[in-house]
Amino acid sequence: MAVDNEMPAQATSAQAASGIRPAAASPLQHGNGVVAPVKPRAIVLFGSPGSGKGTQSRYLVEWLHIPQISTGDMLRDHIRRGDDIGIAITDRMRAGSLVRDELVNELVRERIAQPDCDNGFILDGYPRTPAQAEEMLRLVASRGAEEVVIHLVVDYNVIISRMTGRRVCPKCGTLYNSVSRPPKIEGICDLDGTPLVVRDDDREEVVRRRLAEYERQTQPLIDFFRATSKRLIEVDASHDKPEEVFRRIRATLENVSGK
Ligand code: AMP
Repeated sequence: MAVDNEMPAQATSAQAASGIRPAAASPLQHGNGVVAPVKPRAIVLFGSPGSGKGTQSRYLVEWLHIPQISTGDMLRDHIRRGDDIGIAITDRMRAGSLVRDELVNELVRERIAQPDCDNGFILDGYPRTPAQAEEMLRLVASRGAEEVVIHLVVDYNVIISRMTGRRVCPKCGTLYNSVSRPPKIEGICDLDGTPLVVRDDDREEVVRRRLAEYERQTQPLIDFFRATSKRLIEVDASHDKPEEVFRRIRATLENVSGK
């Protein structure tokens, strides 16, 4: 899990108290290096497989200096440690089924009570069900934060061609993409000359199944947030480069913070 809980050296105690903090220096800053302060918030990031959610999370962590909280990472961590929770969830995780709402809610409740979440946090992979969404709103409110839901909207045909264009070298693991990172000789690894293969996960029928599953799980939540949340940001993430998608997310967040 990527966690950045360091307060930037230049943050004043007043900023710390209010939760308003300066952004980190980043190549993504505006030309004059000045970025509007942002209120503490719970950023809920939704994005299908292949939407670039991981990349956008990293940009947000770098920009806002708040931790990314991934329930998938937390659950995998319990399995790795082999503790009671890990033992209880292993079968469901292996089967790709959701873990009980009560357990996931409890893990998130404990995690966001940590001091590094005082200035906000990014929720990745949570909520996944309407019951979790309702609990999330309660948890965020009890933490004195406000939620902003970001939905990375993608054209599934673009995602399918992006993901099915992926090739991997079975020998050294190097990843290629027929569109964005083709090998010098089609179908051959640049590094060791091994014929490239398609990973099981990237086969078209598997990609379609994963997208359908995401849609089935997520659409009711998006409808829920449309109905309940004042701050649902839908960003088209199909065509532009990740930096450009992030610029739009940031501009919208800066706008929202001014309200
Ligand atoms: P992820 O890494 O987000 O794809 O999650 C991997 C697995 O962890 C999922 O297939 C579920 O078994 C479990 N999981 C992660 N987040 C949740 C959640 N919010 N609710 C229930 N199960 C979850």
